[in-house]
Amino acid sequence: MTTPTTMPAAFIGHGTPMNALADNRYTRAWRDFGRSVPRPRAILVVSAHWYTNATAVTGMAMPRTIHDFFGFPRELFEVSYPAPGLPELYEEVADAAHPDWVGCDVDSWGIDHGTWSVLLHAFPEADIPVVQLSLNANQSLDEHLELGRKLQPLREQGVLVIGSGNIVHNLGAVDFSRPDHGFDWAHRFDDAAREILTGNDAAAVAALDAHRDFDLAVPTPDHYLPLLYVAGLADGTPMRSLVDGYAAGSLSMAAYTLGADCPTGDGATEDPSGLVAPDAPAEQSNI
Ligand code: ZN
Repeated sequence: MTTPTTMPAAFIGHGTPMNALADNRYTRAWRDFGRSVPRPRAILVVSAHWYTNATAVTGMAMPRTIHDFFGFPRELFEVSYPAPGLPELYEEVADAAHPDWVGCDVDSWGIDHGTWSVLLHAFPEADIPVVQLSLNANQSLDEHLELGRKLQPLREQGVLVIGSGNIVHNLGAVDFSRPDHGFDWAHRFDDAAREILTGNDAAAVAALDAHRDFDLAVPTPDHYLPLLYVAGLADGTPMRSLVDGYAAGSLSMAAYTLGADCPTGDGATEDPSGLVAPDAPAEQSNI
């Protein structure tokens, strides 16, 4: 099974899980991206929310929808994204990653909200197989970048690779009274990432741990790491901004596409961000 063209890829800043139910300029940009790509054979999502102690892919024929957060409205816990899996994709990922070891998860994970909050908008029919790739917490930024680079053969086989996280993600600093605000340090770090990603050496984002605002922007690696997979795939090709913006001061909503013919998000509208304060403190809500 081959496709004549290289499948696009994207990094999506997913923000709050409430974006799953929202209609805002971010979710419309995700929708536009989904409509712009050739129909994938499968979607491989590297989600911030599967941050574990090994590299693994979901190998279920019917992955469950995981509601991996706390303190949000009931309707968010009732969301289902019933896309099938694609168990045979495990072999392709394992071959691509060789000699690095990749596990096949058949009973633990599924489709988490880093994935479904985006795919509900980008692929609302939920009829394309979805496989997740975990983030190995024991690996360095460079190792994640290299694994991303090695996934290139999958793009040649009709697989759409999506990284889902946030370039700036500091839940300890969120200010829900300012839903569309970005702190100065968030702007500085996000701007530095943008300059790199839209240039011809996207891989240099793996060196942004030297940036003076890295510790504030990336207090934990989980939401940053998915970016490295898409940057690894860029291989000298500039990425394009899909949409940008900020939420609650300390979240960047920036999204980038690679090899996609997609319009930039309709940032001219001034709809609210869809950000709703969770009942639980943000740092305990796993967004
Ligand atoms: Zn998240």
